[in-house]
Amino acid sequence: MAGRPPGVQVQAEAAGLIQRAKLRLLEMHYQSKVGHIGGNLSALDILMSLYHFRLGPDDKFVLAKGHSAGALYVTLWTVGVLSDEDLRHFHGEGTRLSGHPPLQGIPEIIFATGSLGHGLSLAAGLALGKRLRGEGGRVFCLTSDGEWNEGSCWEALIFLAHQKLDNLTFLVDLNGMQGFGSTRQVANLDPLADKFRAFGVKTVEVDGHDVNSICSALESSDGPLAIVADTTKGCGVSFMENQMAWHYLPMSEEQYQQAVREVTECGKLSVTA
Ligand SMILES: [Mg+2]
Repeated sequence: MAGRPPGVQVQAEAAGLIQRAKLRLLEMHYQSKVGHIGGNLSALDILMSLYHFRLGPDDKFVLAKGHSAGALYVTLWTVGVLSDEDLRHFHGEGTRLSGHPPLQGIPEIIFATGSLGHGLSLAAGLALGKRLRGEGGRVFCLTSDGEWNEGSCWEALIFLAHQKLDNLTFLVDLNGMQGFGSTRQVANLDPLADKFRAFGVKTVEVDGHDVNSICSALESSDGPLAIVADTTKGCGVSFMENQMAWHYLPMSEEQYQQAVREVTECGKLSVTA
């Protein structure tokens, strides 16, 4: 489906696909007893939109918010790059699916990321390299919002704006939360989109859980382009949404079962609608 903007029928297919991915993501995190599920759930719709509707063979992607590796792995599973067996070993001993994207072992993952603030610089370097070599394709990068507390993000912004990297799109998973609290409480950067615009970067704001909105923004070949995606941490699981604890906590069996029920019910409602 890559490269094809979603019509009504495709959107319905996407909803089913995302529900399946979300259930598998919950299972992976429950079985491995690791945290970060909140930020993974806020990023999943963006990653699924990218991989199913936008990325082509000449494009590259960098996950700057490496702690959402689970959402990236499950997305790669839906496009056939990773297997069931791979996902079963998520975060396990000797696995190639570590808690943050690994340096080696998965060709689609170019950089080991997760030390926040570096992914956008890596993506900008890739974009400049493509231009210097006369290569086609585009580079995409997904950052978190808390990550913009890092000075290195702003250095990357200066660089990509100065170089006019028209083959680069970066997205912000704007869920309003980070490791130590809400982004407004820790170091307020509102309105982030206007700050990007002040650097001369074309910036669009979208609903980060609406596949159609995300895909419409991703279609643009203007650049450099920033997409600020309004998201909800823990999206789709009522007791996780906007709750700080789900930056860190693993799920108990009871919590896992409730999360599965809610995601399953939500899928039924979507189909009915
Ligand atoms: Mg955040």
